Amino acid sequence: MLIDPHAHMISRTTDDYQAMAAAGVVALIEPAFWVGQPRTFVGTYVDYLSTIVGWERFRAGQFGIRHYCTIGLNSKEANNEELAEGVMEWLPRFALKEGVVAIGEIGYDEQTELEDKYFRLQLSLAKELDLPVMVHTPHRDKKQGTTRSMDVCEEMGLDPSMVIIDHNNEETVGEVLQRGYWAGFSIYPSTKMGNARMVELLKQYGSERIIVDSACDWGISDCLGVAKTAQLALQSGVPESTVRAVCYGNALAAYGQSGQMKESDWLEPPAIDQRTLYEGNSILRGGRDPVIEEPGTLRRKGLQIK
Ligand SMILES: [Zn+2]
Repeated sequence: MLIDPHAHMISRTTDDYQAMAAAGVVALIEPAFWVGQPRTFVGTYVDYLSTIVGWERFRAGQFGIRHYCTIGLNSKEANNEELAEGVMEWLPRFALKEGVVAIGEIGYDEQTELEDKYFRLQLSLAKELDLPVMVHTPHRDKKQGTTRSMDVCEEMGLDPSMVIIDHNNEETVGEVLQRGYWAGFSIYPSTKMGNARMVELLKQYGSERIIVDSACDWGISDCLGVAKTAQLALQSGVPESTVRAVCYGNALAAYGQSGQMKESDWLEPPAIDQRTLYEGNSILRGGRDPVIEEPGTLRRKGLQIK
């Protein structure tokens, strides 16, 4: 069984859901983020948050995958102050909804003053609601931006065990682990981290507090990043217990601290019935035959990492 704790499924197709389920992904986390096109109204942001806690959760379930999400104002759009102010008012309401496992992904993009302001405000919110935090580290000045993100978390009084620092690389991982944070790695072709590099890191650092994700989104990315890394790691002689921890157990331990994500969610899943409606709509179009399972079907039987 695998968990992909960072996947922007709103940008992905049903083929991806099917491929992920077939590869052993039982659960995933969809972080609230920038959608490519800048949002110009608070309302579009609110509808986006409604989609990731609502329709997308339903859609994933129809393909046999449990869907969780994180709620937050991303660093890029924190630079639109009018939008940011409006979004901040809505966040507490969304953060308490079912299936929300963290505040995120928040942090720095260009490391501007406004980004810093809204990062701190959201860290306070997470602390107040006792929710974990998913931190997006910047692509530019990554090393310094990652250090700064952790400094600010500590200034704001967060416990490192409640914070997942994501998009790490060889340069950042040492400090992140040493300071007691969870270290996420996004297996994202050419920009963030590749499978082979990830396997080398696992050999060097082992499994403690390391989390592998795909960060698949609307860019050139791979929804099977976690599954392929698990496979390559096993082939390369990384112990199975390490692979299980970094591709499953650690994500559950970190985000499970929200109280919103537990193993029974997918070990005893509701049977799939694609005739089900969500606010009047099913995932079916036209005359397609729905997938309907018998209740109690052990769909996940045999879904070990192979
Ligand atoms: Zn992301």
